[in-house]
Amino acid sequence: MAPRLLGRLAYGSRYDRVPWSQRVYIRPGELLVREAQWRWLTRRAPVMRLADYQQLRPLKAIEEFLSCMMCGDSRQQLLFSPGGNGWRYHVVRCPGCGFLYRNPGIRPERLGDLYATGYNTFLTGRYAANRQRRYELTMQAFSPVFDEGKERRLLDFGSGIGLFLELAEQRGFDACGVDLSPESVAQANERLSGVRTYLGAPEDVPEIAAGGFDVITLWSVLAHLPRPLDDFAAFRRLLAPGGVLLILTVNARSTQLKAYGPAWSGFTKNHLMFYSSQTVRTLLGRTGFAGVAFAPHYGDTVEAGTSRLPGDLVRRLRRNVELSDGGNMMRVLAFADEEAIGRWGGGPLTVHRLGA
Ligand SMILES: [Zn+2]
Repeated sequence: MAPRLLGRLAYGSRYDRVPWSQRVYIRPGELLVREAQWRWLTRRAPVMRLADYQQLRPLKAIEEFLSCMMCGDSRQQLLFSPGGNGWRYHVVRCPGCGFLYRNPGIRPERLGDLYATGYNTFLTGRYAANRQRRYELTMQAFSPVFDEGKERRLLDFGSGIGLFLELAEQRGFDACGVDLSPESVAQANERLSGVRTYLGAPEDVPEIAAGGFDVITLWSVLAHLPRPLDDFAAFRRLLAPGGVLLILTVNARSTQLKAYGPAWSGFTKNHLMFYSSQTVRTLLGRTGFAGVAFAPHYGDTVEAGTSRLPGDLVRRLRRNVELSDGGNMMRVLAFADEEAIGRWGGGPLTVHRLGA
């Protein structure tokens, strides 16, 4: 393996004990190399008209060809073809705005085909504990918004088996969830005492369609949405004055993506679109949100204080994640209106206003 050999020549054995997912943020000079690699890749990938791109690959029954949903540009740059056990797709980049997405995408009415049986089986045990830790760390990063629920109304969109709703209930939110999987909804309602989850889209459930939510959360959901602009316009309508929306999703600017390419952990079987701090701003601005704040993601072990890295390496990792905007996940707090910015902005949170 040439890259490994090069790594060995450049760094010796100094970083052997640093986990792979952290090395890219820690080895000196690596950020510069990965950024240069990425620029080279995105400049070199041919820009194709959609009509030409469509010739590359026959369309399956559940698929559709897409133009960029963020800026409307129909041109395509094919960057990667990630794949694994029985799946493979094309990831394209919009040459107009840099948005990364799967093309062909999946037709919204056929999304269920992606989530065949067995989706729930891994959502338990250690996985569940890790998930809940990640939710806690994200809420902490946006403190004080989630510190105390105080009966505020919260909607968890894509609530699964209710792992987050459980925490929201503990913190005193008046919480409910909605999900498209009947098995998940049944399981969640069995597990949870005071909180309800509903099956379907928000507009199908009268209690939810009425809106008036103070908080909406999207935990690892954004990358799965085939019609994000429609969904976010709906979220904006469901929010009460002063409301906020929280997003956790994979970061399309991740230095790990730049380093690992098609093998990046964010290219999973069911992900459709990959957002950066830039393209998520476009999404929020176009759907009527007033402002946005970001909390860099340093990795769960670093944030939980359970990382085995020495202190100086942790500091280097944190600095490089911030400098590059290249954490592997992106954590976003969107503000519905000026009232929300007035209530929750400031402190450690830098609010970027979104022009209409
Ligand atoms: Zn675009």
